[in-house]
Amino acid sequence: MRFSLSAHALALLLAGSAVAHAGNIVEPGLRIADGGAAGPQVALTLDACMGQTDRRILDVLIENRIPATIFITGRWTKHNAEALSVMKAHPDLFELENHGLNHVPAIDSLPTMYGIRTAGSPQAIRAEVEGGVDSLRVAAGVTPHWYRDATARYSLDAVGQIEKMGYKIAGYSLNADQGATLLAPMVEKRIAAARDGDVIIAHINQPTRSAGEGVVKGILALKAKGMRFVRLNDVQSSQTLDPVQMAKPAKPRHVATAAQPKPRTRY
Ligand SMILES: [Zn+2]
Repeated sequence: MRFSLSAHALALLLAGSAVAHAGNIVEPGLRIADGGAAGPQVALTLDACMGQTDRRILDVLIENRIPATIFITGRWTKHNAEALSVMKAHPDLFELENHGLNHVPAIDSLPTMYGIRTAGSPQAIRAEVEGGVDSLRVAAGVTPHWYRDATARYSLDAVGQIEKMGYKIAGYSLNADQGATLLAPMVEKRIAAARDGDVIIAHINQPTRSAGEGVVKGILALKAKGMRFVRLNDVQSSQTLDPVQMAKPAKPRHVATAAQPKPRTRY
């Protein structure tokens, strides 16, 4: 069941809001249905943005028969043929979905998001989504159903555009690793605290960072507690579109270029 606010309704809401939402940016939330009598369940989603593959995570998932939904970019696919073949060899575990062609945020109203250059236009958003679909078809032989852009933030219009193209937007409810920037103990703690119906997001493309170790420990802790892991295509889910309040850019300050006082030398 889907009880999300439609993109159109949210646009009206934002337009009427007294609070400034620069660029009408939304961060879609996603939850899966509770496990009910079968017991608690979560969906583990892992992003392969670019770079390499964290085999610590991939190998543990295979050894423990833990299913996951993996969002891959065309960019990642080009340099990770071996890991991709491992994922393809386990279709019962891994659902491969679209993270775009070149890891570009589906935003046309702001120039950057988290320092990443955005698509900038509906045409570029379409090219990024379709490029990711083509890449998945060619490299993995699968047709994706879900789309998650770089940064998991979107222009509100982009959400409607991508849904019209026939793809569901893959938000999340539990941010496990903050873009693989958190240290292992924190990541482990966050994942181990997952509740029934959570959609966990983490990264599988940063093998040299501490975060991946926390992903491994966290999912093993959940498994030990009896949590079931499901993939996005295997369950019902519900979306929310949460407005992101962006700080307005500061006005440029006039900076004198001449007669700057010299810093005093300290001894
Ligand atoms: Zn990414």
